[in-house]
Amino acid sequence: MATLLVFQRNYADHTTPSGHPERSDRLRAVDEALSAEQFQFLDRREAPMGDLSLAELVHAPGYVDALRQARPAEGIAQIDEDTFITAGSLEAVATGIGGALLALDAVALGEVPNAFCAIRPPGHHAEVERPMGFCLVNTVAITAREAQRKYGAERVAIVDFDVHHGNGTEDIFRADPSVLYASSHQMPLYPGTGWPEFTGVGNIVNAALSGGSGTEEMRAAYTDRILPAIEAFKPDFLLISAGFDADYRDPLAGLKWRPGDFAWVTNQLLELADRHCDGRVVSLLEGGYDLEGLGQGVAAHVSALMGQSEID
Ligand code: ZN
Repeated sequence: MATLLVFQRNYADHTTPSGHPERSDRLRAVDEALSAEQFQFLDRREAPMGDLSLAELVHAPGYVDALRQARPAEGIAQIDEDTFITAGSLEAVATGIGGALLALDAVALGEVPNAFCAIRPPGHHAEVERPMGFCLVNTVAITAREAQRKYGAERVAIVDFDVHHGNGTEDIFRADPSVLYASSHQMPLYPGTGWPEFTGVGNIVNAALSGGSGTEEMRAAYTDRILPAIEAFKPDFLLISAGFDADYRDPLAGLKWRPGDFAWVTNQLLELADRHCDGRVVSLLEGGYDLEGLGQGVAAHVSALMGQSEID
């Protein structure tokens, strides 16, 4: 059985202003990285358009209508300082949801061992009540809810290695002991949340990393805090918010992760998933804004999902 790669054909329908870091070229870089020969055995499936109303499994009533109203007939409308919406954005978002749920189905039904979804826009900053930080809808949160609703998962773990704290995912699950949210992120950095002292109802694990830190600190954060928390939680499903902006080249942050660090963390998570949930892992692309760093990070992550040896 091969790792599933879910690709999105309409990612460029969501556009951002010139010079914005969250741009269509990101997915072109991911496509290019995953066209290398070592990825020829991926099970590639196109993301179908999903049901946008599923957003209200995790967002407030009226959230989707508000997004529809914010959407311009043409051009680009601004939602907050760095979040934008265009005529095609909600189709792109719905396709991201469709892709994530296709991956969930394939993994839950045992058609594939694990899956990576190359989708945009990202989602982990979108809170219950508001889109923010390039994110319109929180796709990983919807996927967690569907794992519970559709497949009866009692405990879903979401691990977020994007360099930014996933304030949206934390906001959605902060009072829900059935979902563990564990994040490694640079602090201080946007969005300013992610304090290690905040533990929700014992289901939030925030591992803060200082600017300039690299391999050693990240491995310690996982080894000392995040991995033991997942081990104790014993998830039925493991979801990954896979952002690649902790890469040393990223223009929006200051950590010093190398591609091999993304392979390392992926291998650690796979080992836990093997022990607790038959290896069931669904990974969703979040950030990553240096195109070379993004491509190499995704390649390292997907290689690890495929069970290929660690890349350094
Ligand atoms: Zn990020």
